[in-house]
Amino acid sequence: MQDDFQLSLPLVLRRLRSHPGEGEIVTLTNAGPLRAGYREVVARIDRLARALLALGIEPGDRVATFAWNSQRHFECYFAIPCSGAVLHTVNLRLFPAQIAYVINHAEDRIVFVDDSLAPALGALAPQLPKVEHFVVMGNGPVGELPRTLRYEELLEAAGDGAYDYPEIAERQAAALCYTTGTTGEPKGVLYSHRSIVLHSVGLLMTDAISLRGADRGLLVVPMFHVNAWGWPHAAGLNAMTLLMPGPFLQAEPLAHMIESERASVMACVPTIYADLLRYADEHHPDLRSLRMAVCGGAPMPLALAQAFAERHGVSLLHAWGMTESSPMGAVSNEVADLDEDARWLARAKQGVAVPLVELRITDEDGAELPWDGVASGEIEIRGPWVAACYFKDAAGSAERFRDGWLRTGDVANIDARGSVQITDRSKDVIKSGGEWISSVELENELMAHAAVREAAVIATPDERWGERPLACVVLEDGAFASAGDLLEHLRPRVARFWLPDEFAFLEAIPKTSVGKFDKKLLRARLEQDALAGRVRVTEQS
Ligand code: ADP
Repeated sequence: MQDDFQLSLPLVLRRLRSHPGEGEIVTLTNAGPLRAGYREVVARIDRLARALLALGIEPGDRVATFAWNSQRHFECYFAIPCSGAVLHTVNLRLFPAQIAYVINHAEDRIVFVDDSLAPALGALAPQLPKVEHFVVMGNGPVGELPRTLRYEELLEAAGDGAYDYPEIAERQAAALCYTTGTTGEPKGVLYSHRSIVLHSVGLLMTDAISLRGADRGLLVVPMFHVNAWGWPHAAGLNAMTLLMPGPFLQAEPLAHMIESERASVMACVPTIYADLLRYADEHHPDLRSLRMAVCGGAPMPLALAQAFAERHGVSLLHAWGMTESSPMGAVSNEVADLDEDARWLARAKQGVAVPLVELRITDEDGAELPWDGVASGEIEIRGPWVAACYFKDAAGSAERFRDGWLRTGDVANIDARGSVQITDRSKDVIKSGGEWISSVELENELMAHAAVREAAVIATPDERWGERPLACVVLEDGAFASAGDLLEHLRPRVARFWLPDEFAFLEAIPKTSVGKFDKKLLRARLEQDALAGRVRVTEQS
């Protein structure tokens, strides 16, 4: 066997070059959709690789992007690592101080930036003295941004012709993403060529995400978030079409893109699906070209999946993962031998570890717990595309990695089939009278109430029980539900001891930079007695 055959990204690029198929990249712009077949895209990747060489980029150097999903961003995805450099995709949604932190921490030499984002980055430029060039993608004004070059001019100057890509050992670094945990500075995860290639193969497996060459994939999950869940790299293997919405992430342009481009698969987080559902219920776009829609990044509410299936013929596929796991960890594919209700409950779980990924749950002492669907512990994960440590962060690494396993901070049970059901984040878990209460499940049940738009459940300290749940709720515009109404709604759905003692009716739930509920902030407000609209409905004490 050719056991030392190197699994590195130039192999994927060669595949795309030799088998471009009918695939294309369609980017939504202010001037309408911009199209390019993969033959053209690969030629531009070669030019960009030559341009990087001309700019003095050397193996191992970090080169960043600060950009929405687009064809040019895809070109960076291949040209940068195939030249031996490391692609650092900067998360646009970080707070400004964190953006400066990650660019400096990564020691990025060049930043590729969308013209629409250039003025915003310009404001940070004084804090980024080590960045040698800002390469602007597009012709728009750049504001105060210094040291700029124009992307298209670089490509023009690089000229045509074959580019001799260097040999790249599979264990070399190819990409870098930072996670935005709710505590501390962002932590860097460095992906090797080998892990990206294997993860891409994983995405094509039928029992994982089953991406096909004939698919037209609407990529809503940003390319600055965990490599857009690996879809661009997978497209390098199968030349599936990628539909890139750029900054147009509202329900209307997305629905329009699904309809007009006949998207067959898509990937995004539950909040965007919820927006899309509201829009679809009102405007009835034809979404039936979608054979599958991956929903991950946060728990998929069962009511959401059912509404999509029943009212729009769209099947949501629940997936779980994290930046440290590339991200594909578990997927909730269809189970054949269950009746209708049980099938829905199974699909709403986070699902089964995809082949080559291993999961286990452990208690506070690190002892492994049984897969009985009841015992609940922290998920640990390992596998060929799971990180082994954080980038330049020994202390953070020591905290989260143990004996070759990554401690995810997610709390779950695993049933006899191996299907994972997340009940909480370890930091968020509510422990009442020695028993776990799942804030996630309470939130799901509350959000299934027609008057509730958002719900985030946090723990309040309680003398008798240790902790009790407090539900922060945002009502739909023009809708009303009292604390008593919500309690009655929950009563048949959850254990009695789970019923919140208190509700807080808020105008909005604060969000982290990546749009998740900021429970840290909610807890801080609670501590300072600054949580508005509180209503007590004591049941337990
Ligand atoms: P991503 O949001 O792309 O999954 P992050 O690294 O930003 O990646 O966040 C990972 C965390 O998000 C997980 O540890 C978990 O807490 C949460 N998460 C991701 N997917 C799910 C899911 N399907 N159900 C519940 N929580 C999820």
